[in-house]
Amino acid sequence: MNNTTYDVIIIGAGISGTCIARELSKTNAKVCLIDKEDDVSCGSSKANSGIVHAGYDAKSGTLMAKYNVRGAELYPSLSKKLNFDYKNIGSLVLAFDEDGVKKLDELLLRGKKNGVKGLRIVEQEELRSMEKNINENAVAALYAPSAGIISPYQSTWAFAESAVINGTTFLRSTMVHSISKNEDGTFTLQTSSGILQTKFIVNAAGLAADKISKMAGARDFTILQRRGEYCLLDNKCENLVNHVLFQTPGPLGKGVLITQTVDGNILIGPSADDATNETLDYTGTTSASQSAILQSAVRSVTDIPKRNIINSFAGIRAIAYQKNAEQKLEPVNDFIVEEDKNVKGFVNVAGICSPGLTSAPAIAEDVVVILKKAGLKTEQNKSFIEERKGILSFKHSDKKEKLSLIKQNPLYGQIICRCEMITEGEIVASIHSPIGAVDLDGVKRRTRAGMGRCQSGFCSPRVTEILSRELGVPMIDITKRGGTSYVLDSKTRATVEDIIIKKTTQE
Ligand SMILES: Cc1cc2nc3c(=O)[nH]c(=O)nc-3n(C[C@H](O)[C@H](O)[C@H](O)COP(=O)(O)OP(=O)(O)OC[C@H]3O[C@@H](n4cnc5c(N)ncnc54)[C@H](O)[C@@H]3O)c2cc1C
Repeated sequence: MNNTTYDVIIIGAGISGTCIARELSKTNAKVCLIDKEDDVSCGSSKANSGIVHAGYDAKSGTLMAKYNVRGAELYPSLSKKLNFDYKNIGSLVLAFDEDGVKKLDELLLRGKKNGVKGLRIVEQEELRSMEKNINENAVAALYAPSAGIISPYQSTWAFAESAVINGTTFLRSTMVHSISKNEDGTFTLQTSSGILQTKFIVNAAGLAADKISKMAGARDFTILQRRGEYCLLDNKCENLVNHVLFQTPGPLGKGVLITQTVDGNILIGPSADDATNETLDYTGTTSASQSAILQSAVRSVTDIPKRNIINSFAGIRAIAYQKNAEQKLEPVNDFIVEEDKNVKGFVNVAGICSPGLTSAPAIAEDVVVILKKAGLKTEQNKSFIEERKGILSFKHSDKKEKLSLIKQNPLYGQIICRCEMITEGEIVASIHSPIGAVDLDGVKRRTRAGMGRCQSGFCSPRVTEILSRELGVPMIDITKRGGTSYVLDSKTRATVEDIIIKKTTQE
């Protein structure tokens, strides 16, 4: 048993949990961030569109609307301080007929009410000048200049690292099994890493937030899963679109979008499939969904270069439902961000579906206020470090910087991922960073090694070797994404060292 009694334990190291951890690290509260996976950003925060939404979509007066607009305002400066990529490319919602144009007017009104700045309708001619590849059936669009794009996993890692640099404890591979409230008002958590004690709990467990809430005897709600599939195009297609292109939204959400990513790929998706029991937690892709996405995307851009699709993936949205008077489940239609009415000191941050990525920095500000109101006693962390360095990108350094890097550390002269030009120096830095990578996907999310055209075909054996050397574990223990996702099965050929050892033991 860990003898520490934390002030706050945050369950879940997605974008919500990590932003809250960073906000709390501005105070002297003793904070522990835990996740059942072996890394941060392994839930919804790993696979989504990466859009910083402007904020016209959420119903006025909801928490979603409030946090979305504030979050979108916070991202530009946070990206500079924490050194993650953010591009303010703006978004366009396309209309193809009169009904669509009416919908644009509604969105414009709602956006203005929500406090979104710079929104306006653009007519066909201007639209063509903004997007040369747009389908000629698009008749008008709602332009939101404040929308942007980020890498969801890069930003989640940046928030988490900043929190850890400022004193937060991060426990990975730590699954919460049960929660009990003690007589003195503190909580005891039984976890896969042992017993933990805390005065306050923040439940940011994404798809499992309903189970965690029930464990603590707090609000009864249900999280249902809505899968979203994507296809990803090679970065040589970067100029296919210049803005995030949406179509007018439908009952299941914002529909299929086409956007650049911060790394220059083109992302098309997501689908919106409500999970049945058989598809629970399923993040694979299906040919039916892929075709449907592409078919829908053609409404926005006619010529999609399908031969440049390099990957497909899926993410899962956590949608909150609660029982109505007839005991039937109905959607909450908002985020749940509150101290529980019955369990003092337990704060739910649940049902964080889209625009949760955008909203997280704003949710974090509010959660600190909620915790203080609930009795958390803290002072300012006087040694708070605002900035985070992150990993230097060799590819984006100029020639002089590259030469100086190689001179300081020859590992920067070894290209490991040829597609994305990632060096051994960057991979080693990602493993030894404050929240270091421990598997292939961890290295990939931090450096982009394996995210290029060959999708890690060439570099994964080299990255496996580097992980094994740097972590001091045998190669066959290295995994793709934790658990039992081992990269290698067993040895098929003995090394020279093996033969020498065998001979010496035989002699
Ligand atoms: C297809 C799709 C597209 C989206 N697009 C956008 C977008 O463009 N813009 C936008 O703003 N939002 C978008 N979103 C929404 C956004 O991704 C989510 O709102 C956000 O990632 C939620 O983050 P979170 O931290 O609340 O949850 P998660 O990222 O799911 O994190 C929860 C964490 O809790 C951990 N956990 C669960 N159970 C336990 C346990 N028992 N013990 C310990 N740890 C546990 C999990 O391992 C996980 O890491 C999209 C979502 C999807 C799925």
